[in-house]
Amino acid sequence: MPQGVFKKLEQDNTLGREDIMALLNLRDPADIQRLFRAARQTRKRVFGTSVFLYGFLYFSTHCRNNCRFCQYRRANTGLERYRKTMPEILRAAGEMARAGVHLIDLTMGEDPQFYRSGFLPLINLTRAVKRETGLPVMVSPGVVPDTAIEGLAAAGADWLACYQETYNPALYSTLRQGQDFEPRMAAKRTAVRKGMLVEEGLLAGVGERIDDLADAIAAMQDNPFDQVRIMTFVPQPGTPMATASEEPASGAGRLTELKTIAVMRLAMPDRLIPASLDVDGLDGLRDRLNAGANVVTSIVPPGTGLAGVAHKSLDIEEARRSVALVSCILKDCGLETASREQYGNWIRERKALRHKTTIGAA
Ligand code: SF4
Repeated sequence: MPQGVFKKLEQDNTLGREDIMALLNLRDPADIQRLFRAARQTRKRVFGTSVFLYGFLYFSTHCRNNCRFCQYRRANTGLERYRKTMPEILRAAGEMARAGVHLIDLTMGEDPQFYRSGFLPLINLTRAVKRETGLPVMVSPGVVPDTAIEGLAAAGADWLACYQETYNPALYSTLRQGQDFEPRMAAKRTAVRKGMLVEEGLLAGVGERIDDLADAIAAMQDNPFDQVRIMTFVPQPGTPMATASEEPASGAGRLTELKTIAVMRLAMPDRLIPASLDVDGLDGLRDRLNAGANVVTSIVPPGTGLAGVAHKSLDIEEARRSVALVSCILKDCGLETASREQYGNWIRERKALRHKTTIGAA
């Protein structure tokens, strides 16, 4: 069975859902290494050896929601939260830009303050970060009203990131308790209509089956998401899933994350696929790059008081989530940091494709 799908890859490089299932189900270590090799070859064919680097700026850890997997959930009253001021945000963004990232990712929980008083401060913040750094900006705000997305697009936001985490409706409603599936998809459609690029994301190790991952990858293939990711769930203190295993019987967990990165690369060769520093820090970067990722995310400068998501503090104050150390790992993997011009060109070309596509209903 694996031989058939590998042969198909050699011949036409298009993967249907059954092929995706076959690849996700690989168990033999030699087959898995073959999968990773095929993913690296595809990355090289489409993107060469250049990798993009994203600075992660989690500026508000307040949230109105109660996602079961997330330590920033509203009900976690034991958590110390922050909301950074505009000067603090601009200082951190400027530092990331000087260090050499290609993009600033402005992330927040669904901070109730914005829902009470409007999203103008978020829009102004986006404009100011773009002006301060001269870099493309991704905004990861959760589900916000269409008028806010329109304002973000008008302020120059290049990307909207908004993750479903799973395409299994029952699992979705367990994970994202009290939130509907469709408004998250609708936010992405609005962003596309406004000319923004869109990132979609999945969680591994939260009770999903291989079928669920295959369904999600097939859905991602059909939608014009420009960046697609998967991250392994890390159990968080103060949540209902605090004691959940990271490696459940389904085989989900880090190996599933790596296999899924590789399958995403083969199924969607032209999309950006992140290797996050947020799950295993710098030590986990090599494996994710070797599985076919071509973006490094969650670069966070020390001394700014900024947190990560899956791991609040892993490698941050040790200055291990840095452009310099990431660049060393890239070199070891036969890769290199892209130029700013390369990233700017990729964004321009990708946005040009936007006019031809729309996101279908989930
Ligand atoms: S995942 Fe996002 S929306 Fe859900 S609780 Fe955490 S910060 Fe809030």
